[in-house]
Amino acid sequence: MKLIGAHVSAAGGVFNAPENAAKIGANAFALFTKNQRQWVAKPLEADVIQAFKARCLQYGFSPDAILPHDSYLINLGAPETEKLEKSRNAFIDEMQRCQQLGLKLLNFHPGSHLKKISERECLVLIAESINLAHQEVSDVVAVIENTAGQGSNLGWRFEHLAEIIDLVEDKTRIGICIDTCHTFAAGYDLRTETATEATFAEFDRVVGMTYLRGMHLNDSKGALGSRLDRHNSLGEGEIGWDCFRYLMQDKRFDDIPLVLETINPDIWQQEIKTLRSFINE
Ligand SMILES: [Zn+2]
Ligand SMILES: [Zn+2]
Repeated sequence: MKLIGAHVSAAGGVFNAPENAAKIGANAFALFTKNQRQWVAKPLEADVIQAFKARCLQYGFSPDAILPHDSYLINLGAPETEKLEKSRNAFIDEMQRCQQLGLKLLNFHPGSHLKKISERECLVLIAESINLAHQEVSDVVAVIENTAGQGSNLGWRFEHLAEIIDLVEDKTRIGICIDTCHTFAAGYDLRTETATEATFAEFDRVVGMTYLRGMHLNDSKGALGSRLDRHNSLGEGEIGWDCFRYLMQDKRFDDIPLVLETINPDIWQQEIKTLRSFINE
């Protein structure tokens, strides 16, 4: 089954996210389990956890359909010890929050070398950070998101993702989230069915489709290979509809959260409808 949703607001409490997702006709969603622009958050209280679980059950969202996203401040490949420590602790906290909420996945951006260490050194730090988090928290899968390659962000080349996975000890708890905007901005063409097919063949060859645990469906304001992380509404950017039609009609993208992070929440419901209309076209 296709699990389609959006990164919905959790304002007022994480328990509001399932309802916000249900309202737009989603059967999947993403959320932040804390304020994404702050390092520290107060722990989740028992009644909040209970309310979240109850609403997920009420609206029919299983943990497989929920893809929480971590804080933007975290850099698991930070070159400076102090920042790295802070990031690792915050990441472990994020994983613990997921575990408390009964969630299985945690989506995050791999990290940046900030031009202070080599790419390889940064990728090694990222993998070590994941190994540490795995030791601290059981069950939750670390889901690396590919990036647009803006600034010194790693993870824009499929090879970076493969290198990290190679260094992660528990391969059962590492996965990938492919963001279509980031993929395209990183230089992998998605403008036609043939191009999309070739890009995923390349992903399968370098990383392996078995690691794909989620996707972000976004069109791109930036051109192919622009390395710019600028999302657009589906069909309104440089990618166009063909890619999204392809994804809807390919069984390899069943049963993983497919999450919109497009720029106009007012049309998320329509975007989801359009995506669903492609499935049996
Ligand atoms: Zn992201
Ligand atoms: Zn994304």
